[in-house]
Amino acid sequence: MTQGELKSSVLNSNQNPNSPVASSLSKRQKIAEHKKTLPIASVEKRLIEEVQKNDILIIVGETGSGKTTQLPQFLFNAGFCREGKMVGISQPRRIAAVTVAKRVAEECDVQLGQRVGYSIRFDDTTSSSTRLKYMTDGFLLREALVDPLLSRYSVIIVDEAHERTVHTDVLLALLKKVQRDRSKAVDEIGGVLKGRKASPLKLIIMSASLDARVFSEYYGGARAVHVQGRQFPVDIFYTVHPESDYVDAALVTIFQIHLGEKEGDILVFLTGQDEIESVERLVQERLQHLPEDKRKLLPLAIFSALPSEKQMRVFAPAPIGFRKVVLATNIAETSITIPGIRYVVDPGFVKARSYNPSKGMESLDVVPTSKAQALQRSGRAGREGPGKCFRLYPEREFEKLDDSTKPEIKRCNLSNVILQLKALGIDDIVGFDFIDKPSRSSIVKALEELRLLGALTDDCKLEKPTGDQMARLPLDPVYSKALILANQFNCLEEMLITVAMLSVESIFYDPREKREEARISRNHFASIEGDHLTYLSVYRESNEFLEKRKAENSEAKVDKIMGKWCKDNFVNSRSLKHARDIYRQIRGNVEQMGFNVSSCGDDLLEYRRCLAASFFLKAAQRQMDGTYRALESGEIVHIHPTSVLFRSKPESVIFNELMQTSKKYIKNLTRIDPLWLAELAPHHYKTEE
Ligand code: ADP
Ligand code: MG
Repeated sequence: MTQGELKSSVLNSNQNPNSPVASSLSKRQKIAEHKKTLPIASVEKRLIEEVQKNDILIIVGETGSGKTTQLPQFLFNAGFCREGKMVGISQPRRIAAVTVAKRVAEECDVQLGQRVGYSIRFDDTTSSSTRLKYMTDGFLLREALVDPLLSRYSVIIVDEAHERTVHTDVLLALLKKVQRDRSKAVDEIGGVLKGRKASPLKLIIMSASLDARVFSEYYGGARAVHVQGRQFPVDIFYTVHPESDYVDAALVTIFQIHLGEKEGDILVFLTGQDEIESVERLVQERLQHLPEDKRKLLPLAIFSALPSEKQMRVFAPAPIGFRKVVLATNIAETSITIPGIRYVVDPGFVKARSYNPSKGMESLDVVPTSKAQALQRSGRAGREGPGKCFRLYPEREFEKLDDSTKPEIKRCNLSNVILQLKALGIDDIVGFDFIDKPSRSSIVKALEELRLLGALTDDCKLEKPTGDQMARLPLDPVYSKALILANQFNCLEEMLITVAMLSVESIFYDPREKREEARISRNHFASIEGDHLTYLSVYRESNEFLEKRKAENSEAKVDKIMGKWCKDNFVNSRSLKHARDIYRQIRGNVEQMGFNVSSCGDDLLEYRRCLAASFFLKAAQRQMDGTYRALESGEIVHIHPTSVLFRSKPESVIFNELMQTSKKYIKNLTRIDPLWLAELAPHHYKTEE
């Protein structure tokens, strides 16, 4: 492998954005100053030369050195966006695509959606003037379905490749093929592609980890360069004993830092929204017990479901005299860099997907981080000066951690990506050139599932038109299938609502201190038939309420009235709003496919039959002892307490989600007639003679 070394120059300029000098500068000047101080700034010219010389380039650089925000701007300035071409940057996480695009738009002093924009599922801000397009890896994959040569791009940057999400892995393989196909197309048609001059596709793979070898070897010994970052020493502290409650341990540590350490912001790694929100509340509560002058601690949350206007708040400096404590998921590990952090609190856990192909069960579990993740996390404390990292576990535990995280492709359900590959004309999945091959059993399981859903033929070819339609919808294959079936059952309107409501995080707002009140107020939405119908009535009722108010009030006023309606009904207004958005978009998608959106009105029997026909792979039957048996996997499961069917326990149900906490729970259920399964999915459930 050829490993080039790009050294950055020594930095001695004013780096503290809070200093009096910096604060007297205008925002534009501040940004310009900041850009100049980034390690990547001093190697701009050499990086551009490397891109010009190499069609595939691997760039490894420490987190925070400026790869994601700066390189696309360098490419723009170097002329890679001439003649309407774009630079596409893929990110594993939605929130990174959004926050980085906003930041880069600000740096370029343009409006978001003009030269700089982002596209993520259900939220596309780009326009015909967009030249630097940040998007999720999943979004780029879907784009390849429509434009297999990715002909609008001159450069594709696969960012955060070390994260090894399943979409990144598929992209890495697919882009190899796109690059080859595009070179061929250039040769064959004399350089004219879709009316524009074709040029080869440049590929840049960026990664934070130091191991570029795996990517370089995968691309036949591609050139790898290392952008040297700036890292100050970080002192690592461990606990003496294992902590039984890491949330509480994190709280104690936050206050020890706040009361005992010098200035500097704190970054705490937690596993998810619930944990973050509860720590945020507990910090606020404990602050009230401190003397007035010690209360200047500002908790700020960042996680993917946070509304985007709130996401940007973590980047702003804390008010003078205040210390920020940023409560983050592992999004802050490498994807985004928050200025000002000097202290890191790392409980050592992360939420990760796991998959059991024999049972077809996917779950999200809280698991210990890998060593590589622990190192990345501690590194975040040393970007602007010497820092401290508090690992909330004993040192001997660190030694036991895995070196790195297992690629997601080895621990997830593959039906979604396999359907996309099939739709891209890639038939041999087992022989496909993955950087790490998924297990044979998970490929087989996914193919079988797709066949049962009618997306593939018996010999595993794409079934036309169903498979194609399913691949084009930005949804999980079962949901796409549900929409296609609903079209036949004349309840497409209802299924669009259902899929939209199932695509957002919790529709109901369930404050701990008002559980009973919430349950009672929600009762009037509850349907004895199950959760899907309950969601449907929430949506319909809110819609009716909204339409009436719209006629009489301004938009801002309606928003406010709607907020109150949600509060009174213990509905999560953010989720409901998001669901309306998703509804609008997928409605647009199915209309484009030529479907006519019809409603079954009050004939909800047809709708329930359609649910059974769609989700037959997830059916469960009540047992003598009141537990349920999932028909597909044979597992014993329980109805989740949040389901409206928790108490009534009908004989047969279909469900959407299986989750494992202390028990295996099924969520989002609807009561069905057990005979429907054999009638509506005869290929799977044969009637017993
Ligand atoms: P890398 O991709 O190499 O990890 P980035 O390009 O993401 O680095 O970040 C470079 C710098 O830009 C960091 O110092 C970070 O603090 C700053 N930065 C990134 N996003 C924002 C933002 N939204 N607001 C303020 N600063 C930001
Ligand atoms: Mg980055």
